[in-house]
Amino acid sequence: MKILLVEDNKTLCATLKRGLEELKHIVEYVHTGRDGIDCAKSPRYDVIILDIGLPDIDGLEVCCELRRCSVSTPVLILTGHKKKISDKVSGLNAGADDYLCKPFDIKELEARIQALHRRNTSQKSMVIEGGGISLDKVSHTVKAGGRNIELTTAEYRILEFMMDNPNKILTREVIAQHIWHADTDNELNTFDVHLYRLRRKLGFTGGECPIKNIYGRGYRFVT
Ligand code: CA
Repeated sequence: MKILLVEDNKTLCATLKRGLEELKHIVEYVHTGRDGIDCAKSPRYDVIILDIGLPDIDGLEVCCELRRCSVSTPVLILTGHKKKISDKVSGLNAGADDYLCKPFDIKELEARIQALHRRNTSQKSMVIEGGGISLDKVSHTVKAGGRNIELTTAEYRILEFMMDNPNKILTREVIAQHIWHADTDNELNTFDVHLYRLRRKLGFTGGECPIKNIYGRGYRFVT
């Protein structure tokens, strides 16, 4: 899952990023409400974790603003005010989907995030299939020819994006930008390595790799 964390406590940001990345999520963080609003308007996040106490704009205001702008990404509010039940009500009134008091266990956070994501994707298909591959967006498992394929987080993200956009030619810049906002030559080279490994893993399963290189134009996931 790709998560946007809006939290001004830099130590907490670093801890959560590390913990969630160990659970195979991709985490980007910003420290102010204004930056949170700007980033959250991009559709690339699956879940937004939003602190209430931010230095510029209150987290509840941020949440209201996002809903006003029709951003429907699930929002989990974080607060340090453990005893303030009114915060919970305000958070939910502001359009948040769930609420967690600090301090919390990373496992609790993970469970809440998964639940939000499940709820959000319940209308959409959680399993995408094509090109002989089956990808489960909840468990992050990938099967080809009935066999589980072990992928790294980056490889998984590339495959998920390509399977969400089947049969279209996608340039490496578009894919890399979607996965990490990568745009320097160095980052694109790293992307090439991930893609090469992904194609090799998928191509070694007995069938032909469904990710085709369209010479000079990009890549296409063929269903
Ligand atoms: Ca704070």
